Amino acid sequence: MSAVVSVNRDEWESDRLAALQRFDVLDSPREEPFDRVTRLIRSIFGVSTGIVSMIDGHRQWYKSADGAGATEVAREESFCRFPLVSGVPMVVPDATSDPRFTDNPNVLAGGVRFYAGVPLRSPDGHVIGTICAVDTRPRDFSDRELKILEDLALITMSELELRQRATIDVLTGALSRRAFKEEGSRAASLANRHNHALACLTFDLDHFKSVNDRFGHAAGDRVLTDVIKACVTLLRQSDLIGRLGGEEFAVLLPLTDRASAIEVAEKLRQSISGLMFTFGDKTVPVTASFGVSVIGSTAPDIDTLLEQADAALYLAKQNGRNRVMAVEPVPEAIRTNARRVLKAGRIVFNGSASVVNCTVRWISDEGAGMDILGVFGIPAQFTLSIRSDGLERACRVVSQTDRHLDVQFC
Ligand code: GH3
Ligand code: MG
Ligand code: MG
Repeated sequence: MSAVVSVNRDEWESDRLAALQRFDVLDSPREEPFDRVTRLIRSIFGVSTGIVSMIDGHRQWYKSADGAGATEVAREESFCRFPLVSGVPMVVPDATSDPRFTDNPNVLAGGVRFYAGVPLRSPDGHVIGTICAVDTRPRDFSDRELKILEDLALITMSELELRQRATIDVLTGALSRRAFKEEGSRAASLANRHNHALACLTFDLDHFKSVNDRFGHAAGDRVLTDVIKACVTLLRQSDLIGRLGGEEFAVLLPLTDRASAIEVAEKLRQSISGLMFTFGDKTVPVTASFGVSVIGSTAPDIDTLLEQADAALYLAKQNGRNRVMAVEPVPEAIRTNARRVLKAGRIVFNGSASVVNCTVRWISDEGAGMDILGVFGIPAQFTLSIRSDGLERACRVVSQTDRHLDVQFC
């Protein structure tokens, strides 16, 4: 009997993850409409934390969190896994007297006493995440309050759908994330077919939050508009510029190799840092950090190009911001013909005694790439198991960052 249940559960989970993948929201930058929802959760209910989150194979990832320091938690530690699986709201007035949560690390540490969470359900019926209100003190939650939280969940879903449908970003005139990826995917096929160069840049404004905090949101909006205007005047007609979310943008440069792409990024960087913004009696400079990637067998499609440019951008931030970085791609052989996926997986080692949940992001005949909460303690060789595919392969780690592993199948 348990076999039947687990097959259904696996199917339910893999359909759910496919629905989540269609929203293309995991690990996207912060976006104001979702920040607005979490601010509202805190102010309406007077709680310490409001969260809008998506749940993938191994973690609860926060699209927006007001009052929480973290950006994600392990799925097995999250309260939200209950409304996720049941599909109905859950209210926990006092976690210390609920046997499901008494040994939860967040409860033990005093961070969570009260919880109310509502599932985020896609139009085709899959629960892709949750919104929740959390407090450090126990409290009640009235039916009326729960109704408000449910309405906020519906508003959040509408925002996710709008975000998915929009083609132009109203504020800056750049392509929306979805439109950029659609156009980008056409450009990548064309470049692959004709063996042409294609480069991708991503950039993110540095310490942009402080502009909003010091001068207000409207001032921040003006900076975004002017930055994009400055970039557009430097780019060619055939280049694409898109807003990936928040203050993070991407540029696609057809017929441009790596060296020229770095030059273009450098030109954009200098142009942005040369802009001066005057708010009241203060003049403030704005800078941006850039990542560069180029098409090739290890980055054959728009998703991989963006992913690699983002990894380089992350390094640019780490190395002091206001700079351009291009990253070396992962080993060529294992990524050839890779498929992008979103699958729940398990990393098994220590003679099956240790299991770490992961979310598999790409897979090929030769290897796979997976997200994890942290690489600490994971050995260089292990078994990857993807139950929904009946896959079980011995693996060797070939590259890693602090939250991602690429492996070659042995
Ligand atoms: P870092 O250098 O690490 O990128 O720091 P940061 O402050 O730029 O990064 P963070 O991601 O913490 O903050 C991004 C800010 O961008 C937070 C958010 O309020 C703001 N933001 C996102 N979208 C908009 C928008 O449409 N308009 C305005 N004015 N601000 C926005
Ligand atoms: Mg950002
Ligand atoms: Mg930023």
